Amino acid sequence: MLSHDVLIVGSGLAGLRAAYEVVGHLDVAVMTKVYPSRSHSGAAQGGVAAALANVDGDSIEAHTYDTVKGADFLGDQDSIEILCGDAPRTIIEMEHLGCAFSRTSENKIAQRAFGGHSFNRACYSADRTGHALLHTLFEQSMKLGGSLQVYSEWYVVRLVIEDGICRGVVAMDIKTGRLETFHAKTVMFGTGGYGRAFKITSNAYANTGDGIVAAYRAGVPLQDMEFVQYHPTGLYQHGILLSEAARGEGGYLLNGDEERFMQKYAPSKMELGPRDIVSRSEQTEINEGRGAWPKKDYVLLDLRHLGKDKIMEKLPQIYHLAKDFIGVDAITDPVPIQPTAHYSMGGIPTDNDCQVYLDENGARITGFFAAGECACVSVHGANRLGTNSLLEALVFGRRAGKKMLEATRETDWSPLNEKAELAAARLEIDELVHTKATESLADIREELKTTMTNQVGVYRNGDDMESAAEKITELQDRFTRVKVSDKGKNFNTNLIETLELSHMLEYSELIVAGALARKESRGAHSRTDYPKRDDENWMRHTMAFRQEDGGYELRYKPVKITRYQPEERKY
Ligand SMILES: Cc1cc2nc3c(=O)[nH]c(=O)nc-3n(C[C@H](O)[C@H](O)[C@H](O)COP(=O)(O)OP(=O)(O)OC[C@H]3O[C@@H](n4cnc5c(N)ncnc54)[C@H](O)[C@@H]3O)c2cc1C
Repeated sequence: MLSHDVLIVGSGLAGLRAAYEVVGHLDVAVMTKVYPSRSHSGAAQGGVAAALANVDGDSIEAHTYDTVKGADFLGDQDSIEILCGDAPRTIIEMEHLGCAFSRTSENKIAQRAFGGHSFNRACYSADRTGHALLHTLFEQSMKLGGSLQVYSEWYVVRLVIEDGICRGVVAMDIKTGRLETFHAKTVMFGTGGYGRAFKITSNAYANTGDGIVAAYRAGVPLQDMEFVQYHPTGLYQHGILLSEAARGEGGYLLNGDEERFMQKYAPSKMELGPRDIVSRSEQTEINEGRGAWPKKDYVLLDLRHLGKDKIMEKLPQIYHLAKDFIGVDAITDPVPIQPTAHYSMGGIPTDNDCQVYLDENGARITGFFAAGECACVSVHGANRLGTNSLLEALVFGRRAGKKMLEATRETDWSPLNEKAELAAARLEIDELVHTKATESLADIREELKTTMTNQVGVYRNGDDMESAAEKITELQDRFTRVKVSDKGKNFNTNLIETLELSHMLEYSELIVAGALARKESRGAHSRTDYPKRDDENWMRHTMAFRQEDGGYELRYKPVKITRYQPEERKY
């Protein structure tokens, strides 16, 4: 058994920012299933939001209101006030740590427009903002010397919570297949998003919801799982992201008739409407036969008028993605795009210090924290504004670090039954590997992803989702007979993918369950059979609790409102 005062699972922005706060004070370790700088944070392109004083008229209050409205009034306003209030300090801190932000001609931090924000407030490093931030934090954490232990390419399979106290995790060394118990006074999850359950997705292969499912299986409820963000500009058929920065820099969206169709849907914001609205507008154009040739199942992102110099200076990555993956030269041709599953608003419910809730009444779990995309604090409510999530990972990662420092110092070690935990993890893996199973992993995964994209996508309805729920039940049953061909121990990616699929099946069930129960349309959750927002009945957060038999129960809790009463959302 290995032990650390603090164990942080995830080396994205949330995990590393938390670690940076604790390292040097306590014995802290970071564990990650991919090499730290390959965490999905590094793929973020467009920017990180803050109302710096660089843009006339912008204010923390304007950022707060934009976020509350963008969230379709389902975000907790006390948390949103913290997020936006701490944003300017966060950007300056990252700059002082060495993050190379793009500059204005006056050498201030440059800020570009982003959807749903009423001022230019996205700070960026060309279109590789996440890369710049992640590498800065990784370097700074390493600089602190040997006091930060990193377990790279270790895979958490089990979270241990007993009597409301978190005691550690069981993890597998991917290199050797060895299972090990990690005993900790405090555990934090910064395990990221879970968009891989969708066929068309912008998410990295690692985004399979391992953390949220480990928590759920250990008795933690999951909040607002029905809210999945579809980003308007995924590369056609691949889903790879072309950042909103493309529209922030002036790109147009065109339908098959070369018409800027956003005129009809969000005349004041046009292409820079919030993501839920732009994605729905695209899908409506496609559904009503106005998509682009030949199959009319996509629309176009037009950058031609920006010219070569601006494209290559501000949007180089986007240019290369379109060129390399579908052979389109964005300087001379519009790029085929479609909505892509992008961001998970739901996750592990936490308070503003990132301590995890045990129920809908506010009871907390001792020694368990979560921050970043796997958490639901809830600053994004029913729809996240672009650039607010790198911000969330940094702001709440830091808060988690501070609180963990305090809480861990006041905590004694609680016992952890190493034998029993290892045996349980070993049993789960042996059952997968050593059966005479026949079902194909790839088939089950493909069917799940197609179902989620086609039936639980941009537009939803009761019939489609009922059939998706049935399909998931069928796939869960087939999964009990899934075949793991690789029986080896070293780098058994076949086994890892199987474990990941079991997580995808489990949380997909909850996305569908929450969405079926929620008989309204709000933010990213848009039902054609219940097209209106219903504040009277649905201005509340969903909490899904796992039952003994593996099923779930849905309960609800109120949204926190401080300053802004709900109103109709128009742009
Ligand atoms: C293509 C793309 C572009 C984006 N662009 C922007 C943008 O411009 N602005 C913005 O604000 N947001 C953007 N986002 C969203 C934002 O990047 C993420 O929400 C944020 O970076 C998440 O950070 P995180 O620290 O929570 O998780 P991640 O960076 O995803 O890290 C998750 C970590 O958890 C670890 N992990 C997961 N499971 C396990 C396990 N079982 N065992 C061990 N370790 C595990 C992983 O190894 C990884 O280190 C973008 C997202 C994508 C996909």
